[in-house]
Parts: sequence; C-alpha cells; structure tokens
Amino acid sequence: MQANFDVIIIGGGHAGSEAAHASARLGLSTLLLTNNVDQIATMPCNPAVGGPGKSQLVKELDALGGIMGLAADATYLQMKTLNSSKGPATRSLRAQSDKKQYSRWVRQYLEAMSNLRIYQSAAKALIFDENKSNRIIGVETNLGEKIYALSIVLTAGTFLEGRIFTGHQFESAGRAGDKPSLGLSPQIRSLGLETGRLKTGTPARIDKKTIDFSGLEVAPGDEELSFFSFLPHRPIRRQYPCHITRTNANTHEVILANLEKSPMYSGAISASGPRYCPSIEDKVVKFPHNPSHHFFLEPEGLDTDEIYLQGCSTSLPIEVQWQIIRTLPGLEKAWITRPAYAVEYDYFPGIQFNHSFAAKELDGLFVAGQVLGTSGYEEAATQGLMAGINAAIKAYNLKTQLEKDDLSVNERFRKYCDEYQDFVLGRETSYIGTLVDDLVTKEISDPYRMMTSRSEYRLVLRQDNADQRLTLKGYELGLVDDYRWSIYLEKQERIEEEFRFIDQAKFAQDNIPTGMEIKGSNKITVHEMLKRPEFTYEDLAKVNFHTDLHEEDRYALEKKGILLEKILYPFELETYVKYQGYIDRQMVQIRDMQKRENIKIPVGFDFKNCSILSLEARDKLSKVRPLTIGQASRVGGISPSDISSILIMLEAKKKNTALQSGVSLHAQS
Ligand SMILES: Cc1cc2nc3c(=O)[nH]c(=O)nc-3n(C[C@H](O)[C@H](O)[C@H](O)COP(=O)(O)OP(=O)(O)OC[C@H]3O[C@@H](n4cnc5c(N)ncnc54)[C@H](O)[C@@H]3O)c2cc1C
Repeated sequence: MQANFDVIIIGGGHAGSEAAHASARLGLSTLLLTNNVDQIATMPCNPAVGGPGKSQLVKELDALGGIMGLAADATYLQMKTLNSSKGPATRSLRAQSDKKQYSRWVRQYLEAMSNLRIYQSAAKALIFDENKSNRIIGVETNLGEKIYALSIVLTAGTFLEGRIFTGHQFESAGRAGDKPSLGLSPQIRSLGLETGRLKTGTPARIDKKTIDFSGLEVAPGDEELSFFSFLPHRPIRRQYPCHITRTNANTHEVILANLEKSPMYSGAISASGPRYCPSIEDKVVKFPHNPSHHFFLEPEGLDTDEIYLQGCSTSLPIEVQWQIIRTLPGLEKAWITRPAYAVEYDYFPGIQFNHSFAAKELDGLFVAGQVLGTSGYEEAATQGLMAGINAAIKAYNLKTQLEKDDLSVNERFRKYCDEYQDFVLGRETSYIGTLVDDLVTKEISDPYRMMTSRSEYRLVLRQDNADQRLTLKGYELGLVDDYRWSIYLEKQERIEEEFRFIDQAKFAQDNIPTGMEIKGSNKITVHEMLKRPEFTYEDLAKVNFHTDLHEEDRYALEKKGILLEKILYPFELETYVKYQGYIDRQMVQIRDMQKRENIKIPVGFDFKNCSILSLEARDKLSKVRPLTIGQASRVGGISPSDISSILIMLEAKKKNTALQSGVSLHAQS
C-alpha cells in the first residue's frame, strides 16, 4: 500500500477507537491500523463500563463528543447507579455490557465515518525522518508496507513485548489468544524513550449452566434507568441480573497452600499490578483478618453462556483455579471455560510526554491508553480522545504550513487551531484533566486507575454536570456537533427555568409531603423545602407543583412553554441547593489555585543547575519539565519549599530581564 494520511492510530482498542473517531470527526484523513479488525474495542477483562471515578470519565468523554457513552448505552445488559445513598460527588453509573455487541457497535460506528480508513495489519516499526531522527513520519507494517502521516498515536495496550502467565506456564502474547507486538517498544527505546514493565490479570470465565444460582444473592439493575450519554436517546433494553458469591475458609486454605505457585509470589513476574484491583491471592495475603471476599457473577453477553467472575483475578496454575472455584457457594460443580491469567507488558512512563500526550523527545508521536501506564477501558478511552484531538491539531498545523488552508476540516476546528497549539483540560475542569496531569507529572509504580479521591475538586466535578463543564469546550473545538450543542442549550435553559420555578412555587400546609411539618409559617418555597435533608430529588420529581404556584407566576412560566407538571432535572436542582455552600467554597478554592497554577515557567528553564533546589527536585523537575507552577507542585517528591524557590528564581529572572531591557533601551537612546 502506498498511502499518506494526516494521522495514523496504531491499535484499535478503547484508546485507539476514540482517537480515530476524534481525529476523523475533526476532518483529518485518519488511518486506524490494528492487528485484528474483529477485535475493535474488545473488552478483554470485565464486561462493564463505568463505576466510581470511571463513570465521571465516560460522561466527560460524552460531553466532549466522544463515543464510549453512546456505545455503553446501546449495548448494556444492566444499568446501575452506585453509591446512590452517598453524596452526589461519589454517585456513579455502571453498565454491565454485552461484550460482543459493544465491540461490534464501535466498529460499525467507525466504519461509517467518511474520513476514516480501518486496516488490519500490525505496526512493526516507526519510520523516522532521515534528516531529523527524532521526527516520526510513518509506520512500517509486518507486511513491509510503509504508511506515512503527519502525526501518529500509539495505543498498543498490553501488547508491547507482552507475556501471559498461568502459574509458571508463560508464553509471548498480547492477551490470551492474541499475538504480542514484538520489536516496536525496543525500537522506540533506541530512539530515546524509556520503557518499564507493568502487569494486570483477569479471572476465569465459568459456564452458566454449571452454576447453581438458587442460593446466591441477586444483584439487579436499577428500576429507573439512567444513561451515560447526555443525548436524548434512551435505548430501553431488558436488564439481566448479576449474582454474588463469597470466598470462605476453604478457599483461603487452598490459596495459601499454593501461594508459591503464583508467579507474583515466586518472583517470575516482578512488574507491579493494579493496586486497586488486586488478585485474589493478594487479597487473602494482605487482608488475613478478612474471613471472606465477595465475587460478582456477571453475564458476558446474550449470545454466550460465559460468566465473568469479578474479583477473582489470579495467576495461580489452572489446577489450583479449579480447586478455588469449586470451594465457592453455587460453584461446587462449576466448569471453567477460560482460565484466569496475568499479562506483563512494556509501557512508557508518562513524564516523557506533554499534557497533549505528545512525546517530548520524539516529534510527531503521541501515546495513549494502557501503554501509558493506566488500567481500564474508561481511562484508555479518555486518553485516546485527548491524544486523537492533539494529533489532529498537530497534523492540521503542519498541513497548513505546507499547503494553503485545508478546507476539508471543520470550520470551528480551523478557528481553534488559529488560536491554540493543543487541547488540554485543567484539573479543576474535569477528571480527564486530572488523569492527564497525574500521568504526565507523577511517576507511577503500578497501573493508574481513576477514583473519585484522585480529584481535589470532586464536589464540582460530578457526573451530572459533566456537560456543563465541557460541552462548550467540545463545541469550540469542533468535536461537538450542532445537534448536540442545541440539545445542550435546551437543557441549560430548562434547568434555569426550573431553578426560577422552585424559588417561586410554594407548598401550602395541606400539600406538604407527609412527615415534613413547616414550623412558624404556613407556606414554604420548594427551594427552602429542598434544603431539608429529608426532602430529596426523588420527592421533588414526584410532587405536582402546578397547583402551588401563584396565578401570575404560573402564567409567566406557561407563556415560556415550560411544562409545570414535572421537574426534569431534580437531581441537578437538589445537588445545587443542598450543597451550595460547599460548592461555592470549592469554586473560591479553584480561583485561588488558578492564580498560582497558571504562573508560567519558561520553556527550557534550567532546573538542573538551580543550586537552591534539592538534588531530588533538580533531577525530577528536569525530567518532567513542568511549564507552570501548578504542574511543578504536583511532581512527586517536590516540596512547598522547592516551589517557593522556583517562584523566587522566576521573580529574579523577571527583574533581571526588565533591568537588561532597561539598560539596552538606555544605551539605544
Ligand atoms: C488480561 C487483562 C486483564 C485486565 N484487567 C483489567 C482490570 O482488572 N481492570 C481494568 O480496569 N482493566 C483491565 N484490563 C485492562 C483493559 O483491558 C485495558 O485497560 C484497556 O483495554 C486498555 O485499552 P487500550 O486501548 O489502551 O488497549 P487494548 O484494549 O489492549 O487495545 C490495544 C489494541 O492495539 C492493537 N495493537 C497492539 N499492538 C499493535 C501493533 N503493533 N499494530 C497494530 N495494532 C496493535 C491490539 O490488537 C488491540 O486492538 C485488563 C486487560 C487484560 C488484557
């Protein structure tokens, strides 16, 4: 094949799919080069999207115009809002997905895009410019074809030099049943990027027919459905239950008796695994006082009998897996359809990349997903979106230097590129911004997974307001289309009207919900009522406020076309009313932080020779090369006194420059 593209995406997993979609949607000619077209957006581990911290990522991705939320909504087997009894910041949606349908949905969506070509082939090596060896200009495939592009996004997941382990048996593989990608990471290492090793694991799958569900606890989906996407599509599908089983003393005995057969414990795998998703042998060893750990039995799809055993990931040998599983209630006669295994692979430490995911030392290369040290579909997808956008900006800017203006790209995108060189989100705007910032400024020792506790602004970064935080940014960039934009504007207008409505509408004594007396006055506004902890958004959604309005207020609202019978956004109203004080305080905090956060550090600032910094700080800062004080303050091991030293140096530098320009002006006059 002799072809040139603007952008090439290597790898069609969750990161690669979002990257390809974003780049093509913005108008750049894009190639998705992937090992196996039948495995686009495959879920090699748990068949689920969302959950704490992760649902916020999916909603943000959707607000920016990404596809994961739409795919999860179209293919769920169960929808459930987790932490619904806790505060709004931790509330999160989780979809049990039909694995095959999910993958097929994403593939069909990408296939329908006019700027995107999908090609099944493996990238064997990157091609670099012979005159400028740090400039990447293309990809060579395993068939010897050379494909050129202006920017390249690498999203190879767990495939780079991948090895899978079941007990002491191991083989070279990207994941079970897939060939590894050999040679690519050694080549990139030889071009100057560092690599490390990480590992992750997946549990056994069980044949549904061999499980006795009769005594198991049922975990049903929600009766009232919620969705990931803000678009008003609401695919109604039958919901399927999950079940719960638990380990017991026999299970723990089997695990402890066989511990030395686990490659993690024998030292055969030395790479770190996901701290927050430990293997069952890790849980039993690290929490010896815990008599039981629960496992969820989750269906993998409608066209298969396979059940995923969530919580039971292990790399113990297969004969031990059989023993473990048959100690579990309901699984005494279970048949394993696929053994559990662990995978170890090369990754690129994030501090070698800018906030745009561009490699600092290799011009034209962007990296995203598991290969950048994360774990999870949602983390991969959001990085893919950001890397795809930034690769598109880079390609467009290069193109306009070479040719005249490229009229095929989206008008808003062209304007955006006239003004900005990249698309970066701050920590205060999103979990996506938090994820990117953590990855590129902190050294990680185990696969990074998103959790609500990673954000210092979690009361402001809720899943319910992701569209309010990000849709405008996506629209200005050109990724959010006119349809989504008009839906968003309608929703905002409606919320504003509903706010006005709850300020005006009053409850009379006789229609106050039972058990909620009004003291001192015989009328109370809905807003005041909502401040009470016992009156929740569910009550708000049920009460008919129509009758409680003054005639003229009702008339004014009806004239604006507002339906008074039902509040459409009770959760948004409740959150704002009940948590207003905290939210306002967090906004003040954000404004204070921004003042310092945005103080710029000049490109090429010489940290190495700053004698007032500690040796550790000099070393770390010259590796990360932060561009703002905010970024510097989050580099691992950097103390507040290091930050004060940098501020002093910046101030001195500013004075020096002013002095020098004063001297030269004086000399000229
Ligand atoms: C065994 C296992 C266990 C896991 N356990 C968990 C878990 O417990 N919790 C969790 O949240 N996540 C888990 N994951 C991780 C989850 O699957 C990933 O985080 C997610 O899929 C990463 O998405 P990605 O797009 O970065 O990579 P992947 O989804 O891995 O996609 C990579 C894609 O790149 C393609 N590719 C690779 N090399 C090349 C090449 N040279 N040329 C062309 N194409 C290439 C591959 O074929 C694949 O399509 C697990 C994954 C595995 C394999």
